[in-house]
Amino acid sequence: MSDDIKDKILKAALQNALDHGKTQDKIVLGKILGTEPSLRTQVKEIMPTIIDVVNSVNQMSADQIRRQIQDRFPDLLAEKPKKQEERDGLPPLEGAEQGKVITRFPPEPNGYPHVGHAKAAIIDEEYAKMYGGKLILRFDDTNPEAERLEYYAAIKVGLDWLEVKYDRVKNTSDDIELLYKKCQEMLDGNYAYVCTCKQETISANRREMKPCKCSMGEQEQNMERWEKMFSKFKQGDAIVRFRGNMSSENTVMRDPVLFRIIETRHPLLADKYRVWPSYDFAVAIEDSIDGVTHAFRTKEYELRNELYYTILDILKMRKPKVMEFSRLGFEGMPVSKRILRPLIEEGKVSGYDDPRLPTLEALKRRGVRPEAIRKFVLSLGFTKADTLAPFETLESFNRKIVDPESIRLHMVKNPASIKVRNLPSNIITMPNHPTKDIGRRTIEIGEDFYIESEDVEKLKTGDAIRFMGLGNVRITNQSPPQGQYIGDEIGHDIAKVHWVPQKNAQKIKILIPSQLFFGEKFNENSLEEINVFTEPYYNELKEGREIQFVRFGYCRKDSVLQAVYTHK
Ligand code: ATP
Ligand code: MG
Repeated sequence: MSDDIKDKILKAALQNALDHGKTQDKIVLGKILGTEPSLRTQVKEIMPTIIDVVNSVNQMSADQIRRQIQDRFPDLLAEKPKKQEERDGLPPLEGAEQGKVITRFPPEPNGYPHVGHAKAAIIDEEYAKMYGGKLILRFDDTNPEAERLEYYAAIKVGLDWLEVKYDRVKNTSDDIELLYKKCQEMLDGNYAYVCTCKQETISANRREMKPCKCSMGEQEQNMERWEKMFSKFKQGDAIVRFRGNMSSENTVMRDPVLFRIIETRHPLLADKYRVWPSYDFAVAIEDSIDGVTHAFRTKEYELRNELYYTILDILKMRKPKVMEFSRLGFEGMPVSKRILRPLIEEGKVSGYDDPRLPTLEALKRRGVRPEAIRKFVLSLGFTKADTLAPFETLESFNRKIVDPESIRLHMVKNPASIKVRNLPSNIITMPNHPTKDIGRRTIEIGEDFYIESEDVEKLKTGDAIRFMGLGNVRITNQSPPQGQYIGDEIGHDIAKVHWVPQKNAQKIKILIPSQLFFGEKFNENSLEEINVFTEPYYNELKEGREIQFVRFGYCRKDSVLQAVYTHK
């Protein structure tokens, strides 16, 4: 047999052992025939070699296996490419070149990140990865009235949790001087003017498609006024406006604001600046100088594209490709800060991590995994159709991820007492999961148990029921409920009940979040709190541990005394 084939056998055996700890001759044979179909006629000849190799590989320690692979087949250790399926929802990017794509996620630090931001950030990151490009995190912080230091941090924490990795982080406010220079260029070329009209006049003129006097002023007047915006003028006295077209069908082009005076202290720069660029001006310049090739934003910005490209054309700056996708939100769970902030201020929800909210903090607290959010976002794809996704879609992605790791515990909501006699032992051990090996727990039991009232109501003297994990019980008395242990044989049509021993039952609270709004109306009953009994083992679990309460649903331990309901 050739050395080449011997090498292939060794490689297949090592790889299989690397993945599964041990290898088997049949598996190695299968792999070899898969890659070398011509050997199908020579199974007899190669089998002894396979058996030899498999035996020797199975005697190696994990370390030895790794070292052998490193020496002889280092390609096996190379990082496996990410599964394509995860990006299925995203179509190829128009005009994208391998290695040259730059995307950016530009949040304004004016609130906590939510599932909509997750959508934007994940799509930005996935496209950068898809083309071996880069993602920039850019804090779009040019409105000091709304921005706070705490939000810069919260956004980073949210992205870390989502495992969105960016290659560079910057603030628009780093570039104010440069933005002034670009504004100066606009004024010099008479593409912009300084307007001192009152806000009402400006709005009325926009509606009526009428230019104002300021737009007809001499260039000199604009220069003087621009100077004054840094000194004499007060907030509201003057704005720089782009000379667009007051009769444009696109209302955005009716002489939009480029700069305004804001006297509020900036969270990072304090009172260093008082003249701040508008979103439209800053975003176009920043995307261009940051090298962004593909700039995504939500659909409501579509009308702003004309202004974006016009500004860059005038300044002769490189133009990124702007693309839109739909806003993401859940039914009855608002993402907009305009709606969220008052809910918090009025105490209708407890804070940004209230489990009813679609903020990342809240989703985390509720037991939603970041991988589930990513899968969910990618499953929706890059669509323009508005997505008010049902929360259940996210749930089904999450359930698949948490199920194998959620510890099964008994929990009784509406307790009724039942006495069981003749139990063979006062200690039992139960597996933490029906199929996965995530440990076992030991529970002390007495004769007295809590089971659900609704289970008790169905009991009749003479019935047999199964105490899950414990054994079968024959009901000897209906009221008060009593029974007798009758063995552990598993019968098929026997009713199952979950139970908690009374002697060590732990009282905890479960928070059950549901839809915050029905239409416009706040749902006063959106957070149900139930007091329940669970097993003492609950106390030993770490905060954040995922649990499936048997016959109830998935929850996440929130604190010693409280769990949050995740989903069915
Ligand atoms: P808000 O109404 O909450 O202020 P915003 O769009 O002003 O929303 P930003 O912080 O400016 O929020 O958003 C940063 C990025 O996230 C932008 O690219 C924006 O398009 C995107 N984004 C924000 N909300 C959503 C959403 N619900 N769905 C998808 N993308 C969103
Ligand atoms: Mg915003």
